Amino acid sequence: MIKELAKNKEGAKERCLKAYEEAKKLQDKLNHVITFIDPSEQCEEIKEGKMAGVPIALKDNVNTKGIKTTAASQILSNYVPIYDAHIATKLKDAGAVCIAKTSMDELAMGGTNLTSFIGPAYNPWDTRRMTGGSSGGSAAIVASGTVPMAIGSDTGDSVRKPASFCGVVGVKPTYGRISRYGIIPYASSLDHVGYFTRSVEDAALTLEVLAGRDDRDMTSSYREVEAYSELLNGDLKGKRIAILKNVTDALHEEETRKIFFDLMKKMEEKGAIVEEVSLDENLMKAILPTYYLIANCEATSNHSNLDGLRFGYREEGSDMQEIMTNTRTKGFGPLIRRRFVIGSYGLFEENQERLFRKGQKVRRLIVEEVKSCLEKYDAIVAPASGSIAPLIDAQKDQDELSDEYLITENYMALANFSGYPSMTVPMGFIDGCPIGINITCGAFEEVKMFNIAEGIEEITGYKDLKAEVK
Ligand code: GLN
Repeated sequence: MIKELAKNKEGAKERCLKAYEEAKKLQDKLNHVITFIDPSEQCEEIKEGKMAGVPIALKDNVNTKGIKTTAASQILSNYVPIYDAHIATKLKDAGAVCIAKTSMDELAMGGTNLTSFIGPAYNPWDTRRMTGGSSGGSAAIVASGTVPMAIGSDTGDSVRKPASFCGVVGVKPTYGRISRYGIIPYASSLDHVGYFTRSVEDAALTLEVLAGRDDRDMTSSYREVEAYSELLNGDLKGKRIAILKNVTDALHEEETRKIFFDLMKKMEEKGAIVEEVSLDENLMKAILPTYYLIANCEATSNHSNLDGLRFGYREEGSDMQEIMTNTRTKGFGPLIRRRFVIGSYGLFEENQERLFRKGQKVRRLIVEEVKSCLEKYDAIVAPASGSIAPLIDAQKDQDELSDEYLITENYMALANFSGYPSMTVPMGFIDGCPIGINITCGAFEEVKMFNIAEGIEEITGYKDLKAEVK
């Protein structure tokens, strides 16, 4: 799709304006955009490249020069960056035209897209349901067919979960594959740039545009960027696939199980060697608490600059201390404030060893489990969510201590702990709403991952799905 669009550069202006109007029209129903960008000006100087004249959207934690970037937080509600994120420049250089900055969970913390300061984003397949988060607005704008690609970010599963709920392809490449320079951080050791498309081919092509070394992100890799889209063959023959049994065991929804295991059978028919593998159950249950500890500590430290003094929104006060306290109290939503309490507690000098550093040790044990599994298998797979997108009203009934929540709904942070590439593609529908499968491979094995994903796409036929928004 992106390839065909980029070939027709003459139609670019019309196409981008149409996407812009379409996004605006859907906003009433989806509430998926924070800032719309009229593409007329950008269309005057479209560069030659792999995305020439292709309309795209950026999550609102990607800094864009001269364009408001809020990370969906009141505290950044008036923040206008003076520079572009590395990927914003890369996309421009490839000819892409940005039409919207999409909604997200506040500061990318959350999995629902219900915590944005503009209110919830709604799922294009059923607007009573959530999009998932934190990159929900980007998932929705791709799922509704407005743009073929939108950028997200993934610290725990924030691209791969909304991809499952919105019926699109969601990719989180290897840590270091895409520069994070200019992305408003969440937790630096876990943060990845990710993105959404409606086909595996578009996903492969997008990585060619985004990946590559950037001196301004010290974690960025020197490895050569492969020709991912040319190396696609969808071949499942001989691929060794490990089903993550801890996830399927904790899964309650019968229909999800059926869709998933039917797909596994079909993969076997195509020559894949599919086996069930159990990783240490205690470690699997430790993923979420370990994640919360590390992520919240890092976030607390990263966001100490949001104080109302240097930039962004400011509340009044009689001295510096009071300005900071008032600004941070009013500027952050309740979830963020709770997370900062956990993060600060974990970072207290007297707690650092037994909390933050212990968390790092547990993380290492978890990564060792995943690593040894991927020495025997090409990929680890499991449903990307236990069910279709929950109804927004049902969110408060979630039992966050059940195995199903601890493991099935949160295991995808494995790929953030390890930095391994991981992606979600649609695998089926329940009650008219999509659900995805997650695939994780070893470090820098994006080519292999895309090929397995394409093999699955060929089996399901779920390519270029578009939700009809009602
Ligand atoms: N749901 C996770 C959280 O609440 C993941 C967020 C993310 O990946 N940005 O932090």
